[in-house]
Amino acid sequence: MKLVVMKFGGTSVEDAAAIARTAAIVKGRVAARRSPVVVVSAMARVTDQLLRAAAAAAQGDRTGALSISSRLRARHRDTACELIKRPQHSAALLELIDQKFDSLDEVLRGLSALLDLTPRISDLIVSYGERLSSRMVTAAFLEHGIDAVHADARQIIVTDSEFQKAAPLDGLIEQRAQEKLLPLVQQRKVPVMGGFIAANEAGVTTTLGRGGSDYTGALVGGVLNAEAIEIWTDVDGIMTADPRVCPDALRVKVISFEEAAELAYFGAKVLHPATILPAVKKNIPVQVLNSRNAKCDGTRIISLAPHCKSPFKSIAVKKKLSIIDVVASRMLMTHGYMHQIFEVFDKHRCPVDMVSTSEVSVSLTVDSNSSLPEIAADLSRLADVKYEGKKALVCMVGEDIRGQNGIAAQVFNAIRHINVRMISQGASEINMSFMIEEDDADEAVRSLHKTFFQNPDPAVFDVKARKHLLASSS
Ligand code: ADP
Ligand code: ASP
Ligand code: MG
Repeated sequence: MKLVVMKFGGTSVEDAAAIARTAAIVKGRVAARRSPVVVVSAMARVTDQLLRAAAAAAQGDRTGALSISSRLRARHRDTACELIKRPQHSAALLELIDQKFDSLDEVLRGLSALLDLTPRISDLIVSYGERLSSRMVTAAFLEHGIDAVHADARQIIVTDSEFQKAAPLDGLIEQRAQEKLLPLVQQRKVPVMGGFIAANEAGVTTTLGRGGSDYTGALVGGVLNAEAIEIWTDVDGIMTADPRVCPDALRVKVISFEEAAELAYFGAKVLHPATILPAVKKNIPVQVLNSRNAKCDGTRIISLAPHCKSPFKSIAVKKKLSIIDVVASRMLMTHGYMHQIFEVFDKHRCPVDMVSTSEVSVSLTVDSNSSLPEIAADLSRLADVKYEGKKALVCMVGEDIRGQNGIAAQVFNAIRHINVRMISQGASEINMSFMIEEDDADEAVRSLHKTFFQNPDPAVFDVKARKHLLASSS
């Protein structure tokens, strides 16, 4: 039994045509004697809209919240009707969709009276996205002749109670997956479950954080010892830069776990940062693939990447960051000072991306959504504090920056017209990052891309695609 976990993102289930493409891909795997376990995201943009409905309800805008919900109901119903041609089957699915939206509307009405949007309620509201999409995809698979069975992710992915970014409890997940998924796979059925959503041990709905369906896929793949974990999305794989920013970005054919983890952490949205972990633990290859272009080989993420002649594999950008400068004359080197600073970030559960120190100051970068005023207030007991938002971290990743002379000079020469605020070369020696103004970020990526991907190594990058691109534009 060659078990493969196939995770399909929002764009791969965004409408009836996308779901039909997804069904064809899964059918192909079954025909090739693979045993797929399918994990799906909510239909594209649904999570954002559910969050908007929650925010409206929490401000007392009951009508606004319900009208978002009613538009979503119509979109799901229309898609269901288009997907399921047999009336008795579509009637059952439509009834299920209506039941879910009726209960969502009840939650939104309650929230618009209570006006208190807790992380727990927020998770309950967004969970409808994946609860709906997983049901619709199951029905569509059955319609396409796949022996699919819906599995409730909340009965399998058990987490702690840190709503909105819950941490999985591996032992329990393994037990549940073996109880609830494995018997289905052994009967050659195809389980279909929602990504991103989970529940704590008491059964209360939680979520794994935005983009978390990739994480669900990797968790399931890890506990079931899958042969491969496939992340199906709307681009050909991991690219040398975000193709939305850099249209001539190239597909990276193969990359190491370490490099991919670094890219994901530093903003390459194509993969959730935690995805790699469960795969690394069991050395399961992860493949990033395009559901709109299933013939393309995508990107293979494996433990040891082959040697690459180009210094960098990809450029990632993390936006919406802030810099906090902590300035205290002659304090810095005193024993325990850094510890006190980090204690403040720890207290606010705020991860720090980059740190740089001088004799008198420490600069740290954090997500702008963090509780900055509260953090600054606590830090000001230790020193003078300033913070500034609208910053971006550009991160260049590649195994071969190790020990190459002159790389930093080339990087900073490529962006010599841009003001750099902070610089760091990670201890892993596979990343070089720097902080700039958010407005300069896209321009910086394009300049760097032009410099470093002029003559890419054909063993690692898909250079044929570039030839096509050049041919079609001439
Ligand atoms: P999904 O809904 O399938 O999870 P996402 O929108 O989360 O898809 O991720 C795919 C998007 O990630 C792409 O459309 C692309 O714009 C963006 N992206 C950012 N950086 C990269 C990169 N280095 N390689 C590929 N895609 C990237
Ligand atoms: N639907 C969730 C989100 O948009 C999870 C995911 O798609 O990975 O964040
Ligand atoms: Mg994603």
